Amino acid sequence: MDTKGKIHSIETCGTVDGPGIRFVIFMQGCPLRCKYCHNPDTWKLSDGEETSVEAVMTQIKKYTSYMKFSGGGVTVTGGEPLLQPHFVKELLKRCKEEQIHTALDTSGYVFNDHVKEVLDYTDLVLLDIKCYNKEQYQYITSVSLDPTLNFMQYLSDTKKSVWIRYVLVPGLSDKEAYIDGLGKYLSQFDNIDRVELLPFHKMGEYKWEELGLTYELKDTQEPTDASMKQAMGILKKYGLNVMA
Ligand code: SF4
Repeated sequence: MDTKGKIHSIETCGTVDGPGIRFVIFMQGCPLRCKYCHNPDTWKLSDGEETSVEAVMTQIKKYTSYMKFSGGGVTVTGGEPLLQPHFVKELLKRCKEEQIHTALDTSGYVFNDHVKEVLDYTDLVLLDIKCYNKEQYQYITSVSLDPTLNFMQYLSDTKKSVWIRYVLVPGLSDKEAYIDGLGKYLSQFDNIDRVELLPFHKMGEYKWEELGLTYELKDTQEPTDASMKQAMGILKKYGLNVMA
């Protein structure tokens, strides 16, 4: 049976979600409500377009030579892709049959046996950790940090390659103590290939307005070069391979 799923959109030549040139699939639906989300239009699972694994594979195959030539592949992101584990598993399984590199960009919040099956077909996990302080994580995302930590432990136990992503948001996630705590926590794992420090930006603000939602970060500025450097320095102190 051709598995169906709800997708938000597709980007055929992505360059920021994993290595090389990538075919990026944005899945519909997310249980988090990050204050700085730049895709709030992915939140509702009832929105988006229903499509089938085979329909997406037909698209992917048109770009296979670009992807392979550049050392790229397919990235599934969102929203939260693991809200639809059956679809994502079938899609990544089909990619592996075509020898295509697969990456999964996730918050790690949804973690169950179906998710473990998805990971069987995932070469690289891009794990977004929004903050390492539990109270602040809850404040930023509206959900608990614990599932993400359990997810990270599973990735370590199964020796899965991971890139950690951390968005530096002035006033929300840029406290020295938060970054230091994250660095210390991450330093215990040997399956983390890199840590990507991403500067907060407001590119999604207009979407909040269009959806009639209140964007609380209107007056928040992008982090300065100095604060990005400072955060990098803290993480590097723990021997992590940090990129910005
Ligand atoms: S996890 Fe991603 S898609 Fe979901 S609310 Fe946060 S930033 Fe938005």
